[in-house]
Amino acid sequence: MRIEQDLKLGFSDVLIRPKRSTLKSRAEVKLERNYKFLHSNHQWSGVPIIAANMDTVGTFAMAEALARHNMVCAIHKHYSVAEWKNWLKQSDESIYPRIMVSTGTSDDDMKKLQSIVSAAPLLKFICIDVANGYAEAFVDFVTRVRESYPLMTIIAGNVVTGEMVEELLLAGADVVKVGIGPGSVCTTRVKTGVGYPQLSAVIECADAAHGLGGRIISDGGCVCPGDVAKSFGGGADFVMLGGMFAGHDESGGQLVDRDGQQYKLFYGMSSTTAMSKHVGGVAEYRASEGKTVEVPYRGPVEETVRDILGGVRSTCTYVGAAELRELSKRTTFIRVKEQENRTFT
Ligand code: 5GP
Repeated sequence: MRIEQDLKLGFSDVLIRPKRSTLKSRAEVKLERNYKFLHSNHQWSGVPIIAANMDTVGTFAMAEALARHNMVCAIHKHYSVAEWKNWLKQSDESIYPRIMVSTGTSDDDMKKLQSIVSAAPLLKFICIDVANGYAEAFVDFVTRVRESYPLMTIIAGNVVTGEMVEELLLAGADVVKVGIGPGSVCTTRVKTGVGYPQLSAVIECADAAHGLGGRIISDGGCVCPGDVAKSFGGGADFVMLGGMFAGHDESGGQLVDRDGQQYKLFYGMSSTTAMSKHVGGVAEYRASEGKTVEVPYRGPVEETVRDILGGVRSTCTYVGAAELRELSKRTTFIRVKEQENRTFT
């Protein structure tokens, strides 16, 4: 047994120090980024915020709403091939750089991925998603997908340490998804004792990825626009959000009425709710590692999007970054023991 002594940080352990700046207004800040991906060589530009591939968040309706802001939606893996075909038939070509097709690693997942990609040859992103990205079989799967789709941009995750980021990039991933345990409906840390505070995971994994020309997504744990800004400040190339996009018209999940208030069901993808819905229950050998919650209904996602983008733009002006690209270079984190003043919350 070994103990690492340096303290790892989550979003709530830091604030960003303001810096002298010549920017006049947050309206001047450019949030679009341009990336050329390591293996696919695909040139992408957009606002690098992604809706999580959960069936209560990563919906076709969410993709359409976010695409209006050049943001991305990782479409959850439970749509049928027919649903994909129908949706793509009525969508414009401009949607393709704004969506990711998600897949697991089973043979059935691979077959379904093949059917979706052959129905939609313009798709750009494949997101290979497992709860634990440390298994050798997962790395092999990433290599298989890379061999099958040399021109697609491949996202693989989740992991939280630099050496595994490198391994996945070398296996064929362009982008590695980072986060084990920080999610709003995740119970992995409680059930297993495994995890890594998200900000430190991002800082360390970004460093590893950028050294090889790869990219990372910070996935999970953002509860407010400030956390999104801290993720970018820590070096994340993309930020993925679940809970912050839950509860809207575009989110999946049943609407429930409780004492005159409306709520939407939101649940983890390995919660009992998701398992019962998609695979007929939680298998006997495993525990559910996700919660089911009801979040207050929040109307269209548009307002939330504006709130997030406005927050990140404002962060950039506080540190003098004219573009999101400069934010991490201009970020100094200070360790703190306080965040917001909660008198009136
Ligand atoms: P949030 O933005 O809600 O904090 O985190 C979203 C992320 O939580 C997702 O992108 C995914 O990585 C993770 N997640 C979603 N469902 C589950 C689950 O059932 N269990 C665990 N451990 N993580 C989940």
